[in-house]
Amino acid sequence: MKTIDNVMKVPFVDLKAQYELIADEVDAAIMDVIHRTAFIMGDEVRQFEQEFADYCGAKYAVGVDSGTTALELALRAYDIGPGDEVITQANTFIATALAISATGATPVLVDIDPETYLIDVAAIRGAITEKTKAIMPVHLYGQPADMDPIMELAEKHGLVVIEDSAQAHGARYKGRRTGSLGHTAAFSLYPSKNLGAYGDAGIVVTDDPEVADNVNMLHNYGQRKKYHHEEIGYNHRLDTVQAAVLHVKLKYLDAWNAARQRHAELYNELLAESNVVTPIQAEDRDHVWHLYVIRTKQRDALQEALQAKGISTVIHYPIPVHLQKAYESLGYKSGDFPNTEQFAREIVSLPMYSELTSDQIMRVANAVTEFTG
Ligand SMILES: *Cc1c(COP(=O)(O)O)cnc(C)c1O
Repeated sequence: MKTIDNVMKVPFVDLKAQYELIADEVDAAIMDVIHRTAFIMGDEVRQFEQEFADYCGAKYAVGVDSGTTALELALRAYDIGPGDEVITQANTFIATALAISATGATPVLVDIDPETYLIDVAAIRGAITEKTKAIMPVHLYGQPADMDPIMELAEKHGLVVIEDSAQAHGARYKGRRTGSLGHTAAFSLYPSKNLGAYGDAGIVVTDDPEVADNVNMLHNYGQRKKYHHEEIGYNHRLDTVQAAVLHVKLKYLDAWNAARQRHAELYNELLAESNVVTPIQAEDRDHVWHLYVIRTKQRDALQEALQAKGISTVIHYPIPVHLQKAYESLGYKSGDFPNTEQFAREIVSLPMYSELTSDQIMRVANAVTEFTG
């Protein structure tokens, strides 16, 4: 095989391109924390929590050490645990389910809507039992779930709604930002997310002072007052260094999301006549395109053809949660969630990040069209 000139390669993500744009600012912010040796719970943590809550249009935020932790502590803040059921979707990153399992509760999975790839609201309705305590819709790929009917359903059955907003920082549903749509939301701040730290990080966002207070207590050894431990808590704090990086990056998030939106529009335009299924943005939503996911029956061959041209792609996700070995004990089987299973065979995510150039997008789109027609 010919070697591909580095310049012609299109990586799936390029964290370095973004770092180079803000290197001076980030380096200074990190060094400032180090010079003050403010490693744990430095001022930047509270500062970032408040500005991220404000950004979401919510009252409170508590920084934690990952998105998985944010989901888990959000559930624990509502006392969800053994014997309880939490409804989420089968096509999500495994962490959504792992967080539910970590509390001792049981993840109850449902299928997705084939248009938006988001949680199927009618399926949620069908999955509610006496044991159901919460619904955890995932704003998958950067598009908010259909929250109004979900909140209505939750109200009717007395359930808590926790948004898995790990892929949707800044996305909007009917004008309102993720983080302010459910009762509480959890965000991942993993490096490659739309807003990413320089290591693991996450944050819980809520309007409920009691939930914020509970997460605050749980993530810091179960104490509200130093050395007074009310519950068997955890050490799940957000590092000051990460909060400092996130503070620098937050002010760029809208511009970075706008760039992703332009990239998605260009992909849509260039792939309009091709034989792949392009993603749909619901009319009442602002998608922030964490991922740009297309569908084709020739997925594996397409992925190989793109790789041969130096174009990297990823499948999100190749094995649905209900067919993972780790979840054998839940008793699901192949065929339970037809949309999720079909899409797992057909989806592929094209390169998507803010610093992608139009030239790179055209190269990717041309390669896709050349292959699929
Ligand atoms: C990334 C992600 C998580 C987990 O976040 P971590 O920070 O990696 O723990 C959870 N849910 C979804 C949908 C994600 O994409």
